[in-house]
Amino acid sequence: MNSDQVLKNIAEEVSNCKKCGLNHSRDKGVPGEGPSNAEIMFIGEGPGFHENMQGRPFVGAAGDLLVQLLDSIGMKREEVFITNVVKCRPPGNRDPAIDELEACNSYLDQQIQVINPSVIVTLGRFSMGKFIPHAKISEIHGQSIRVKGMLVIPFYHPAAALHRPSLRSVVEDDFAKLPALIKGAAKIPDVQLEEHSKNNNDQVEQLSLF
Ligand code: URA
Ligand code: SF4
Repeated sequence: MNSDQVLKNIAEEVSNCKKCGLNHSRDKGVPGEGPSNAEIMFIGEGPGFHENMQGRPFVGAAGDLLVQLLDSIGMKREEVFITNVVKCRPPGNRDPAIDELEACNSYLDQQIQVINPSVIVTLGRFSMGKFIPHAKISEIHGQSIRVKGMLVIPFYHPAAALHRPSLRSVVEDDFAKLPALIKGAAKIPDVQLEEHSKNNNDQVEQLSLF
Protein backbone atom coordinates (compact mmCIF):
# COMPACT_ATOMS: atom_id res chain seq x y z
CA MET A 1 0.00 0.00 0.00
CA ASN A 2 1.41 3.43 -0.84
CA SER A 3 1.41 6.39 1.54
CA ASP A 4 -1.62 8.05 -0.02
CA GLN A 5 -3.63 4.88 0.42
CA VAL A 6 -2.54 4.55 4.04
CA LEU A 7 -3.65 8.14 4.74
CA LYS A 8 -6.94 7.50 2.98
CA ASN A 9 -7.53 4.40 5.09
CA ILE A 10 -6.80 6.36 8.26
CA ALA A 11 -9.27 9.04 7.13
CA GLU A 12 -11.92 6.42 6.53
CA GLU A 13 -11.34 4.86 9.93
CA VAL A 14 -11.67 8.27 11.55
CA SER A 15 -14.98 8.92 9.79
CA ASN A 16 -16.41 5.71 11.27
CA CYS A 17 -14.54 5.77 14.56
CA LYS A 18 -16.36 5.17 17.84
CA LYS A 19 -13.31 4.84 20.06
CA CYS A 20 -14.26 7.77 22.26
CA GLY A 21 -17.37 9.70 23.23
CA LEU A 22 -16.70 12.50 20.76
CA ASN A 23 -18.18 10.31 18.04
CA HIS A 24 -21.66 11.05 19.45
CA SER A 25 -21.49 14.81 18.93
CA ARG A 26 -19.47 15.08 15.75
CA ASP A 27 -20.96 15.75 12.33
CA LYS A 28 -17.82 14.90 10.40
CA GLY A 29 -14.57 13.48 11.62
CA VAL A 30 -11.59 15.62 10.62
CA PRO A 31 -8.65 13.35 9.86
CA GLY A 32 -6.39 16.08 8.45
CA GLU A 33 -5.16 16.89 4.99
CA GLY A 34 -2.06 17.52 2.96
CA PRO A 35 0.48 15.68 0.84
CA SER A 36 1.67 12.31 2.04
CA ASN A 37 5.26 13.45 1.45
CA ALA A 38 4.89 16.78 3.31
CA GLU A 39 8.10 18.09 4.87
CA ILE A 40 6.17 19.89 7.57
CA MET A 41 3.26 18.78 9.67
CA PHE A 42 1.14 21.18 11.71
CA ILE A 43 -0.77 19.65 14.59
CA GLY A 44 -3.57 21.62 16.25
CA GLU A 45 -5.95 20.75 19.03
CA GLY A 46 -9.24 19.58 17.57
CA PRO A 47 -11.89 20.53 15.04
CA GLY A 48 -14.05 23.55 15.78
CA PHE A 49 -17.49 24.45 14.45
CA HIS A 50 -16.58 24.89 10.78
CA GLU A 51 -14.14 21.99 10.71
CA ASN A 52 -16.83 19.71 12.13
CA MET A 53 -19.26 20.77 9.41
CA GLN A 54 -16.78 20.45 6.54
CA GLY A 55 -14.61 17.56 7.69
CA ARG A 56 -11.49 19.64 7.02
CA PRO A 57 -8.95 21.04 9.49
CA PHE A 58 -8.39 24.76 10.12
CA VAL A 59 -11.07 26.19 7.86
CA GLY A 60 -12.48 28.76 10.33
CA ALA A 61 -10.98 31.96 11.73
CA ALA A 62 -7.92 30.22 13.19
CA GLY A 63 -7.41 28.55 9.82
CA ASP A 64 -7.53 31.88 8.03
CA LEU A 65 -4.82 33.19 10.32
CA LEU A 66 -2.77 30.03 9.82
CA VAL A 67 -2.95 30.53 6.05
CA GLN A 68 -1.86 34.16 6.46
CA LEU A 69 1.03 33.15 8.67
CA LEU A 70 2.12 30.50 6.19
CA ASP A 71 1.83 33.05 3.41
CA SER A 72 4.11 35.43 5.36
CA ILE A 73 6.90 32.85 5.06
CA GLY A 74 6.15 31.93 1.47
CA MET A 75 4.33 28.69 2.21
CA LYS A 76 0.95 27.41 1.09
CA ARG A 77 -1.40 25.24 3.12
CA GLU A 78 -1.46 22.72 0.27
CA GLU A 79 2.26 22.06 0.83
CA VAL A 80 1.97 21.06 4.46
CA PHE A 81 0.05 18.38 6.30
CA ILE A 82 -2.44 19.82 8.78
CA THR A 83 -4.16 17.79 11.45
CA ASN A 84 -5.16 17.74 15.12
CA VAL A 85 -4.61 15.66 18.24
CA VAL A 86 -8.30 14.78 18.34
CA LYS A 87 -10.11 14.21 15.08
CA CYS A 88 -13.67 14.94 16.26
CA ARG A 89 -14.98 18.18 17.66
CA PRO A 90 -15.22 18.47 21.43
CA PRO A 91 -18.72 19.89 22.15
CA GLY A 92 -18.68 23.67 22.45
CA ASN A 93 -14.96 23.64 21.61
CA ARG A 94 -14.09 22.51 25.12
CA ASP A 95 -10.61 21.15 25.75
CA PRO A 96 -10.12 17.53 24.72
CA ALA A 97 -10.19 15.15 27.70
CA ILE A 98 -7.32 12.80 28.53
CA ASP A 99 -9.28 9.68 27.55
CA GLU A 100 -10.18 11.29 24.21
CA LEU A 101 -6.56 12.26 23.53
CA GLU A 102 -5.48 8.71 24.35
CA ALA A 103 -8.18 7.10 22.24
CA CYS A 104 -7.32 9.23 19.22
CA ASN A 105 -3.55 9.15 19.56
CA SER A 106 -2.93 6.14 17.32
CA TYR A 107 -4.36 7.92 14.27
CA LEU A 108 -1.88 10.76 14.68
CA ASP A 109 0.97 8.34 15.30
CA GLN A 110 0.11 6.46 12.11
CA GLN A 111 -0.04 9.73 10.16
CA ILE A 112 3.36 10.79 11.49
CA GLN A 113 4.80 7.39 10.66
CA VAL A 114 3.63 7.36 7.07
CA ILE A 115 4.35 11.04 6.31
CA ASN A 116 7.63 11.05 8.22
CA PRO A 117 7.89 14.86 8.18
CA SER A 118 11.21 16.64 8.75
CA VAL A 119 9.54 19.04 11.12
CA ILE A 120 6.45 18.86 13.31
CA VAL A 121 4.98 22.20 14.38
CA THR A 122 2.61 21.87 17.31
CA LEU A 123 -0.10 24.52 17.60
CA GLY A 124 -1.17 25.03 21.19
CA ARG A 125 -0.53 23.19 24.40
CA PHE A 126 -2.35 19.93 23.71
CA SER A 127 -0.28 18.97 20.70
CA MET A 128 2.87 20.27 22.42
CA GLY A 129 2.02 18.00 25.35
CA LYS A 130 2.05 14.94 23.15
CA PHE A 131 5.76 15.43 22.47
CA ILE A 132 6.98 17.57 25.35
CA PRO A 133 4.91 16.78 28.42
CA HIS A 134 4.86 19.27 31.30
CA ALA A 135 6.51 22.04 29.32
CA LYS A 136 5.09 25.53 29.42
CA ILE A 137 4.26 26.99 26.04
CA SER A 138 5.12 30.49 27.22
CA GLU A 139 8.66 29.27 27.90
CA ILE A 140 9.39 27.07 24.92
CA HIS A 141 7.37 28.42 21.98
CA GLY A 142 9.41 28.95 18.84
CA GLN A 143 12.29 26.67 19.87
CA SER A 144 13.17 23.43 18.15
CA ILE A 145 13.48 20.26 20.14
CA ARG A 146 14.32 16.84 18.75
CA VAL A 147 12.19 14.13 20.33
CA LYS A 148 12.65 10.49 19.32
CA GLY A 149 14.24 11.58 16.06
CA MET A 150 11.51 14.08 15.19
CA LEU A 151 12.15 17.79 15.17
CA VAL A 152 9.29 19.38 17.09
CA ILE A 153 8.69 23.12 17.19
CA PRO A 154 5.97 24.25 19.59
CA PHE A 155 4.00 27.33 18.56
CA TYR A 156 1.09 29.07 20.20
CA HIS A 157 -2.24 28.15 18.69
CA PRO A 158 -3.33 30.76 16.11
CA ALA A 159 -6.64 31.06 18.01
CA ALA A 160 -4.64 32.31 21.00
CA ALA A 161 -3.46 35.24 18.88
CA LEU A 162 -7.06 35.93 17.90
CA HIS A 163 -8.21 35.94 21.52
CA ARG A 164 -5.18 37.77 22.93
CA PRO A 165 -4.06 40.47 20.50
CA SER A 166 -0.84 40.93 22.48
CA LEU A 167 0.22 37.45 21.31
CA ARG A 168 -0.19 38.29 17.66
CA SER A 169 3.34 39.62 17.19
CA VAL A 170 4.76 36.70 19.19
CA VAL A 171 3.03 34.25 16.86
CA GLU A 172 4.18 36.19 13.81
CA ASP A 173 7.76 36.25 15.08
CA ASP A 174 7.69 32.49 15.69
CA PHE A 175 6.49 31.85 12.15
CA ALA A 176 9.17 34.18 10.78
CA LYS A 177 11.78 31.95 12.42
CA LEU A 178 10.38 28.75 10.92
CA PRO A 179 12.34 28.69 7.63
CA ALA A 180 15.65 29.03 9.49
CA LEU A 181 14.62 26.42 12.06
CA ILE A 182 13.74 24.01 9.27
CA LYS A 183 17.07 24.63 7.57
CA GLY A 184 18.93 23.94 10.80
CA ALA A 185 16.83 20.87 11.53
CA ALA A 186 19.51 18.30 10.78
CA LYS A 187 21.90 19.84 13.31
CA ILE A 188 19.66 19.54 16.34
CA PRO A 189 20.68 16.54 18.46
CA ASP A 190 18.11 14.19 19.96
CA VAL A 191 17.14 14.53 23.62
CA GLN A 192 15.73 11.89 25.94
CA LEU A 193 12.49 13.64 26.68
CA GLU A 194 10.77 10.63 28.15
CA GLU A 195 13.03 10.89 31.17
CA HIS A 196 12.74 14.64 31.29
CA SER A 197 8.99 14.54 31.13
CA LYS A 198 8.88 13.45 34.74
CA ASN A 199 11.05 16.36 35.78
CA ASN A 200 10.12 19.93 36.21
CA ASN A 201 10.02 22.62 33.58
CA ASP A 202 13.37 24.09 34.55
CA GLN A 203 15.05 20.81 33.78
CA VAL A 204 13.19 20.42 30.54
CA GLU A 205 14.31 23.88 29.60
CA GLN A 206 17.92 23.29 30.55
CA LEU A 207 18.25 19.96 28.88
CA SER A 208 16.26 20.20 25.75
CA LEU A 209 16.24 23.69 24.34
CA PHE A 210 18.56 25.04 21.73
N1 URA B 1 -8.39 24.73 15.79
C1 URA B 1 -7.74 23.57 15.83
O1 URA B 1 -7.00 23.28 16.74
N2 URA B 1 -7.89 22.74 14.82
C2 URA B 1 -8.65 23.00 13.79
O2 URA B 1 -8.74 22.16 12.91
C3 URA B 1 -9.32 24.23 13.77
C4 URA B 1 -9.19 25.07 14.78
FE1 SF4 C 1 -12.36 8.25 17.23
FE2 SF4 C 1 -10.63 10.24 17.62
FE3 SF4 C 1 -13.14 10.78 16.91
FE4 SF4 C 1 -12.65 9.85 19.34
S1 SF4 C 1 -11.94 11.83 18.51
S2 SF4 C 1 -14.27 9.14 17.99
S3 SF4 C 1 -10.93 8.44 18.96
S4 SF4 C 1 -11.60 9.69 15.69
